[in-house]
Amino acid sequence: MSSEPMPCSHIEAITDVKLPTERVCGECVRMGSRWLHLRTCQTCGRTACCDSSPNRHASAHARTIGHPVVASAEPGERWLYCYPDEAFHEY
Ligand SMILES: [Zn+2]
Ligand SMILES: [Zn+2]
Ligand SMILES: [Zn+2]
Repeated sequence: MSSEPMPCSHIEAITDVKLPTERVCGECVRMGSRWLHLRTCQTCGRTACCDSSPNRHASAHARTIGHPVVASAEPGERWLYCYPDEAFHEY
């Protein structure tokens, strides 16, 4: 993690960023749907599709399960996003 100040307490609490265990959105695969980008939940490690995808499974997961922070699961992207605080942090 870099030394810049953390934008919210949820992101501050993350010491080890969880990386995707699979590069698919499991929900979309089940539905036979498509996605654009993937995000990995930093509470449970689940990977789901981004807000630019038609089903927005990562956002739905944060809202319904209450896991606030995701990391980008895209290769080369190193950032975290907190849904309730709309906070973004590069690491
Ligand atoms: Zn937060
Ligand atoms: Zn999805
Ligand atoms: Zn989760």
